[in-house]
Amino acid sequence: MSDCIFCKIANGEIPSATLYEDDDFRVILDLGPASKGHALILPKSHAANIYELPEELAGKAMILAKKMAGKMTEVLKCDGFNIVQNNGEIAGQTVFHFHMHLIPRYEGDQVKLGWTPGTLTDEVRDELLEKLK
Ligand code: AMP
Ligand code: ZN
Repeated sequence: MSDCIFCKIANGEIPSATLYEDDDFRVILDLGPASKGHALILPKSHAANIYELPEELAGKAMILAKKMAGKMTEVLKCDGFNIVQNNGEIAGQTVFHFHMHLIPRYEGDQVKLGWTPGTLTDEVRDELLEKLK
């Protein structure tokens, strides 16, 4: 993808604050951090979203997320950790190259992630079980 900014960053064509790199991924600091240490896992090959991401890379991305979460928690001494991954504009995706947010959480921080819990009715539960199970 010649016009994809995360392709260029992941492959080193645009400089970035890189925390980690291997053959498949680059982990960079987010330029608009939700909290101190907010980082992004970028695959080096282009996939717009989780639907396009090959299974093998999806597996490797989760293993890398676990490793980064462990290291960042140890070093930054954060109190918790969110891993966020948005797909589609409605879900908050603004850069259409798959990425995982690594967001350290600190007591008293101002990070807002969340929703108002609804109610799982019997009807909807049954419908979803029928369609998705
Ligand atoms: P999303 O809304 O899930 O697509 O996340 C996109 C993220 O990329 C946001 O948190 C932005 O702050 C971040 N971002 C956008 N451009 C850059 C860039 N050039 N370098 C680092 N982070 C970026
Ligand atoms: Zn890309």
